[in-house]
Amino acid sequence: HVKERGRGDFRFYRRQMNFDLLTRVKTEHALREALDHQRIHLAYQPQLDLRSGQLIGAEALLRWTDPTMGAVSPAQFIPIAEETGFIIPLGAWVLREVLRQGEAWNARGMRLTLSINVSAVQFHHAGFVDSLVALLGASTLPPGQIELELTESILIQHVDDTLVRLKALADLGVKLAIDDFGTGYSSLGYLKRFPLHKLKIDQSFVRDIPDDDSDAAIATAVINLAHSLNLRVIAEGVENERQRQFLLDAGCDEYQGYLCSPAVAPEAFVSLCERLL
Ligand code: C2E
Ligand code: MG
Ligand code: MG
Ligand code: MG
Repeated sequence: HVKERGRGDFRFYRRQMNFDLLTRVKTEHALREALDHQRIHLAYQPQLDLRSGQLIGAEALLRWTDPTMGAVSPAQFIPIAEETGFIIPLGAWVLREVLRQGEAWNARGMRLTLSINVSAVQFHHAGFVDSLVALLGASTLPPGQIELELTESILIQHVDDTLVRLKALADLGVKLAIDDFGTGYSSLGYLKRFPLHKLKIDQSFVRDIPDDDSDAAIATAVINLAHSLNLRVIAEGVENERQRQFLLDAGCDEYQGYLCSPAVAPEAFVSLCERLL
């Protein structure tokens, strides 16, 4: 009966795979519909200078509320959008939307650096750099106000082409940050080869500082590594005052996290800005 059980497991496994495929197809369809019907929005999370407390930037984060599924996390739908290729139109929409928002905020005197998450599939897509050049050309927003958040996984693929692209982006004046730093590949060689501006300390290393000695050591090491390479460093996921104080003492430049605010809709961000600026 061992064999029977094995077969049963196999059938179960197959059903799971079909179910997952169906879920992915349904989710992709729902995503396309949502983008067409303005059910996808961007929320903005403030980024602050640690020493002065000044608001200096905002990270744009995708928000999707489906009529039946409710709020769906980008951690769930981004991987599906990457697999199905929908990340290309979705990512292009994010770029356009952030540039439009930046122009509107500049016009109100809210001059902020706007950070945009770029997926690996989007970054390595043939038209990525050209489309950004075109969008920036058509926009009054200075390229220096745009920061692209790239993951380490981007940098280890197609290394020669990646270098060409990063140089083109840096020449445009766009800022480049490494998101979730420390969670990807341990090769640090790319840090000296690529024209980067900033490291983002992953929130998994921030969560338990200052009590966890290993995390405190890692956070401090990342800050020192960034500074010795002339990069700025920001901590993400800062939720309390003890974490903020530790990062300040360790020389970190910037932070973002629930301690200041979660990502909020543009209107709420303007109110926040009036309070913080
Ligand atoms: P990420 O870029 O590392 O963004 C940080 C995540 O941490 C966000 O989750 C943010 O809401 C959350 N966060 C911020 N402050 C705190 C805090 O103090 N505590 C905790 N526990 N969490 C905090 P979110 O918005 O769910 O996004 C998840 C991921 O989805 C992002 O991670 C990013 O990789 C991806 N993502 C979001 N928007 C986009 C986008 O427009 N394009 C792409 N390609 N990916 C995106
Ligand atoms: Mg990010
Ligand atoms: Mg991150
Ligand atoms: Mg990320």
